[in-house]
Amino acid sequence: MRVAIIGAGMTGASAANQLRLAGVEVVVFDKARGPGGRMTSKRVESRDEALPFYPLDFGAQYFTARHPLFVQALQGWLAQGVVQRWDFDPYVWQHGLLLPSNDGQSRYVSTPTMHQLVKTILGDTTLHLNCRITELSFSQSSFSSQHGGEWTLSSAEGASYPGFDAVVLTCPPEQCRQLLAKHPLAMQIPPALLLPCWAVSLQLYRAVDHPADGIFVKEGPLSWCARQSAKPGRTGMTEQWLLHFNASTSLQLLEASPEELAALAQLEFSAIIGQKVESIQSLCHRWLYASYNPAQPAPGLLTDKDQQLILAGDWCLGGRVENAYLAGLQAAARLVPESMTAAALSAVANDSMLEDAIVARH
Ligand code: FAD
Ligand code: NAD
Repeated sequence: MRVAIIGAGMTGASAANQLRLAGVEVVVFDKARGPGGRMTSKRVESRDEALPFYPLDFGAQYFTARHPLFVQALQGWLAQGVVQRWDFDPYVWQHGLLLPSNDGQSRYVSTPTMHQLVKTILGDTTLHLNCRITELSFSQSSFSSQHGGEWTLSSAEGASYPGFDAVVLTCPPEQCRQLLAKHPLAMQIPPALLLPCWAVSLQLYRAVDHPADGIFVKEGPLSWCARQSAKPGRTGMTEQWLLHFNASTSLQLLEASPEELAALAQLEFSAIIGQKVESIQSLCHRWLYASYNPAQPAPGLLTDKDQQLILAGDWCLGGRVENAYLAGLQAAARLVPESMTAAALSAVANDSMLEDAIVARH
């Protein structure tokens, strides 16, 4: 079996790894320059001569682990040293007050960058980067395929990649919809599943004189403020804060200029932290598809069984890094149920296709 995976984020990496362990040939495509997707750390130029470049996490800030299969994977990554626990004491900004809000929750980051974990999971999987897939076509007449059909992928650069028995699409839902064009699965993707997020980094002249390293913001335009240099594995970085605007403000300010956003972020952050912060430089990144819309129920993975086409992503299970990992496992299990132990199948399964596979195994 030969499987094409579109998207080298956590979902794609998790599916690729699971399929490769089952002996399946996998090829991963991503439009970006490197793997990671929304778990990305950008290489940022610094004015500090001692450290001219440093990685900054513009997307996912940390992850939590609750599902037994993700906890199990996490133990391996911790042992490998690709993930470390980020032991910060959370603060909360609410009712005009910044207060400690300890919760005993363990939070983790990949080191030295967020995308390092995705890279590690992908290992030496065949990867086509800078490769935006623009068209998927299925031909039923192939004799070479084990499943009565063959997929061909076409890229924006004009390349054609034929000979796939199955396709796993792990892009955000709107991008899946565009790629699927008139395919019936496109109709099953609920609208507005992922909401936007503006991320702003502020490199400061002076260290913020406050013990908070991570702040959950419950009112005003921001949602999160974090001292990036406080994360494990980010040593040597000068005082650098990453701020996320909340989804409704990000939507309102979708077309705002970086200068406008940086000025607003600096003002809001100064009010939260109770001191005037001044930045040496700021950078903004707009995520059109970022956080899961809590008003929408998670649709689960979407599958065309006959054509071996699977739509998988964090959005299928409710967002977050952990759910992206689990969606990748579920995608692999739908294609090759024997790629997982019965216990693991039971643990990821709350969908009928996997339940069929579990019944068949018992
Ligand atoms: P993605 O990471 O989006 O991967 C999809 C990939 O598909 C991308 O690499 C993209 O380049 C590629 N792609 C899309 N279209 C094409 C195409 N046509 N051809 C080729 N490639 C294509 N989660 C947490 O758990 N904790 C957090 O603190 C957290 N904070 C976040 C903050 C922000 C600002 C954002 C944006 C996300 C955050 N998340 C967080 C969510 C987390 O990042 C995601 O849940 C997870 O990374 C999603 O992984 P994925 O593989 O499903 O999707
Ligand atoms: P988590 O349990 O740390 O956080 C979940 C949410 O609970 C937080 O967003 C926060 O609102 C609240 N919370 C948690 N601990 C708190 C505390 N001590 N005091 C006050 N509020 C607290 O982590 P998770 O469930 O793994 O969620 C992942 C994180 O990723 C969340 O913070 C989520 O907001 C964030 N995220 C952000 C985006 C974005 O676009 N900015 C996208 C996806 C996920």
